[in-house]
Amino acid sequence: MPQGTHILKDRFGRVHDYLRISLTERCNLRCFYCMPLEGVPLRPKEHFMRTEEVVSIASTFVDLGVKKIRLTGGEPLIRKDAENIIRQLSALPVKLGITTNGILVDRYIDCFEACEIRSINVSLDSLMRDRVAAITRRDYFDRIMSNIQMLLDRDFHVKINVVVMRGTNDDEVTDFIEWTRQTPIHVRFIEFMPFGGNRWEWKNGVSLDEILSRATERFGPFGFERITDSPNDTAKNYRLKGGRGTFAIISSVTNPFCDTCNRIRLTADGKIKNCLFSNSETDLLTAFRSGKDIKPLIADAVLNKKAVRSGMNTMEQLSDSDVHSDNRSMVSIGG
Ligand code: SF4
Repeated sequence: MPQGTHILKDRFGRVHDYLRISLTERCNLRCFYCMPLEGVPLRPKEHFMRTEEVVSIASTFVDLGVKKIRLTGGEPLIRKDAENIIRQLSALPVKLGITTNGILVDRYIDCFEACEIRSINVSLDSLMRDRVAAITRRDYFDRIMSNIQMLLDRDFHVKINVVVMRGTNDDEVTDFIEWTRQTPIHVRFIEFMPFGGNRWEWKNGVSLDEILSRATERFGPFGFERITDSPNDTAKNYRLKGGRGTFAIISSVTNPFCDTCNRIRLTADGKIKNCLFSNSETDLLTAFRSGKDIKPLIADAVLNKKAVRSGMNTMEQLSDSDVHSDNRSMVSIGG
């Protein structure tokens, strides 16, 4: 690799300075669109990155220019060494964030503060207790809501990730938006995406345009406004007039935003996914454990990245279930 080459820059000039690390494939919820109904086959512990391997591989990415790390799962906080990993990563010159289902937040909130993690994404697909139980196949609604309130009370920047599914929770879109009027919370509607085992069909999704037309119907054409997105933002952001919070839409299906993609993913078993939808992965962990330099592998993975959705440019291509079934389930990617 010639001197001075930016290893994290791909053929389209995108610099991948945002690393998403999945700490585990395990979760204390069973969301039907994320965890396949048959579950994820449990694998031996040694298949997964140990504490020091997570930290060391992450440090290599930071040396290469990564500026932001988000910890995901499964549910990252169920890992017994999660606090140890968080504390070690927070010592790196990097902005640290976490995506969680919120159940264990009360046990880690002091650690978040100590490690200057101020931005927390909480996955919550309904404001109705019974519906949350139906979607997650567990009953943690009260705990999640009280932990969200605890984060707000301690001035964390809280984003709520909502996967919008027709016939499941799409009737709550405007209720979630209304929540942002008096509460400084940032709701992000995610278009339902295809992954291994989630029986995806776009007819069960709700598009950016439809979400906006529902918002216009409820709040009027002047009841909310478009606000500036931050660079590389995956979401298109809006605010109710006079609202304390915001709402946004992540439209990977109907309006992909790949031209500014800066994300690269590291799975819990130490593989790079250069795109959320990519079926081809690069095994870093085996090379790392055999003492090899992992930088050339990272460089190759970045150089092999496709322009849009791992080559699924069109809706037809995205709708090809054969392609999805080869991809991992969401629980083993971490979003
Ligand atoms: S689909 Fe792939 S290339 Fe597009 S924004 Fe997502 S991760 Fe990036």
